[in-house]
Amino acid sequence: MIKKIILSLCLFLYSSLAFAGVEVSSLRIGEHDNSIRIVIDLSAKAEYQVFPLSNPDRLVIDINNSDISFKRSSLPKPFGVIEAIRLGQVKGSSRVVFEFNESIKPAKIFMLTPSGGFSYRLVIDVARAEDKVDNNKAINDKKEVTKKPLIVIDPGHGGKDPGAIGVSGIKEKVITLSAGLELRKQLLATNKYDVYMTRDKDETLSLGSRVKKARDKKADLFISLHADSIRKSGTKGLSVYTLSDRASDKEAEALADRENKADIIAGIDLSAEAPEVVGILIDLARRETMNYSGQLANLLVQELRKEVTTLPNTHRSAGFAVLKAPDIPSVLLEMGYLSNKDEEKLLKRADYRKRLLEAVVDGLDNYFDQKSLAF
Ligand SMILES: [Zn+2]
Repeated sequence: MIKKIILSLCLFLYSSLAFAGVEVSSLRIGEHDNSIRIVIDLSAKAEYQVFPLSNPDRLVIDINNSDISFKRSSLPKPFGVIEAIRLGQVKGSSRVVFEFNESIKPAKIFMLTPSGGFSYRLVIDVARAEDKVDNNKAINDKKEVTKKPLIVIDPGHGGKDPGAIGVSGIKEKVITLSAGLELRKQLLATNKYDVYMTRDKDETLSLGSRVKKARDKKADLFISLHADSIRKSGTKGLSVYTLSDRASDKEAEALADRENKADIIAGIDLSAEAPEVVGILIDLARRETMNYSGQLANLLVQELRKEVTTLPNTHRSAGFAVLKAPDIPSVLLEMGYLSNKDEEKLLKRADYRKRLLEAVVDGLDNYFDQKSLAF
């Protein structure tokens, strides 16, 4: 009897060890931009293989060292080109097989990192194989005008307001404009976004008018570019800010005060613009916008950390006037400290800014990929 218990205990331990890896917790399918989007929810990051097979047309998805934890009965029902969905276990890997009634190809495969209450997700977009595209369908698809997300880039300061001054004398407004132009170039090159800049030359702009421009354009996202300067010359690193009524810490509060002074420096009358901002503080729409801004900031930090030095607690919040659009997810990027000799040197270099902004584009791509998963 005891032997039996020990044996079953061993078996239990073995099986739980064998699947100590990743849990495949659910599978979702949706239609997205005329393709099928498959989303597989995972408890942790996993290795995977995705490959198509023909006769019949299938797509095989293997997730290494994983176990399927959801009931087969909760599998989504096949629809459209999907003929059947099967689940299996192959050498410790979970296997999902999609059978299609026409030739397909995986068009896009990527892993999303945790955010918005979701854990890791493997996302696969499946498109019809080109040779089998129905001509009428192709023509109809072309007629559908898909609107690209509009990203507003806001290079901080400008004109009468130089912003922070670097150790070698470089002005923040020069760095932010160069960075803004580079970011625009990179975003347009993806062909996925429309871009509008609050300024593309050296001009004085109030904080309120920057927000207003973004709102008039019905922007999907607002990103303000800055570079800080403080007394402690040793401090360096990038940080990403979102709006909050309460600053995340003293430094964030002091920074917001410095940035919000831009209007005073530029000699702009704040009283004319204040009411628009005040009423916004109780707007319900803001809550959702702030959630999105938070998600966006985290995704940016994730990518930027790989490329550049970041401040501890890289995502911070404070009451920045420029982030107060109630309906547009907004972030403010402090790209680094011009008061730090090394970082100033880096920020003056086009190749460094290019690398930094490539990470920003990756973060923005992840953000819009996640947003389109809202089904
Ligand atoms: Zn600034």
